[in-house]
Amino acid sequence: MTKKLIVGNWKMNGSLATNAGLLQALLAGLNDDAIAVADVALCASSPYLAQLQTLLQGTALGWGAQDCSAHDSGAYTGEVAAAMLRDFACRYVILGHSERRQYHGENDDLVAQKAQRALAAGITPIVCVGETLADREAGRTEFVVKRQLSAVIHAVGHCASEIVVAYEPVWAIGTGRTATPEQAQAVHAVLRSQLKAASAHSSRNRILYGGSMNAANAAELLSQPDIDGGLIGGASLKADEFLSIIASCP
Ligand code: 13P
Repeated sequence: MTKKLIVGNWKMNGSLATNAGLLQALLAGLNDDAIAVADVALCASSPYLAQLQTLLQGTALGWGAQDCSAHDSGAYTGEVAAAMLRDFACRYVILGHSERRQYHGENDDLVAQKAQRALAAGITPIVCVGETLADREAGRTEFVVKRQLSAVIHAVGHCASEIVVAYEPVWAIGTGRTATPEQAQAVHAVLRSQLKAASAHSSRNRILYGGSMNAANAAELLSQPDIDGGLIGGASLKADEFLSIIASCP
């Protein structure tokens, strides 16, 4: 069985002081059992990556960013290049999160270019896909997630097995309304077969579920055959709850 991957997406939350407290509590609570069943990482806003690097290097916790530029360098005010994230030893970068697709107009092509840049910098992209409620009700879930993933697979070519995919149904994010384990598993199986068709090394791909995952529902979601971990928003800001999710990994 693939080792699970549990990633906290802090979104635009935190401060130097609260981050330090949260990290201290997580490091204190993360025991060998937890580390044996799951890789764990936290994705913070860019200004805090230096803090994560300082406090987490040499520990069992990895870290990453929540976005990167589609360009290498140059006149792109406000952007952060993947190579800059590498300077802070980021292992992961979340790309194409629905909040970026929705509020920043990111489309499949842009997300695909960002994934190329991340891989070129030696950072694992966590590519988010997911349907809106309207898509789901119109029976378009499979079409939408396959289209979103396909753009990235084509752009990264032989590196397709190096990406992490996060299935995050938009209607489940921050709403307290989780996909049922059956609903999530059904979409994960679709994504799995798409990844299998793309690469002979697809056993390396991990497919995470995200959307109102918490201590109460994590065990059932994480026991589904094609759910290889979680991308956790709100519940990653509470040490006890995040640790419980990690401990729920089968
Ligand atoms: P919540 O866990 O707060 O629903 O957020 C999920 C998410 O968007 C993780 O990227």
